[in-house]
Amino acid sequence: MAINRINRDLCDKCKLREKKGCPTAESCSVDVIRLDAEGKPYIAYPEDCHICFLCSRDCPMGAVEVSGMIPSLALPY
Ligand code: SF4
Ligand code: SF4
Repeated sequence: MAINRINRDLCDKCKLREKKGCPTAESCSVDVIRLDAEGKPYIAYPEDCHICFLCSRDCPMGAVEVSGMIPSLALPY
């Protein structure tokens, strides 16, 4: 697994932050997270997540869930 979920009910769009936008979306170096028309983040490209945990670390509301479990590899032998 990788990024599992962004809980929209917990997200307050960082209303106390001076700068607009979502810190978790800005943390993601591979553009997994995008913002919708309301300015709330959603998982756009989950297959690109490399489980760095920066997005979950940077959400002050704890809205982002990332699992560190890596699917087992199919070895050729
Ligand atoms: S950092 Fe968390 S609370 Fe702030 S906009 Fe992003 S998801 Fe919402
Ligand atoms: S865990 Fe890292 S790569 Fe995955 S969505 Fe979060 S910031 Fe992006």
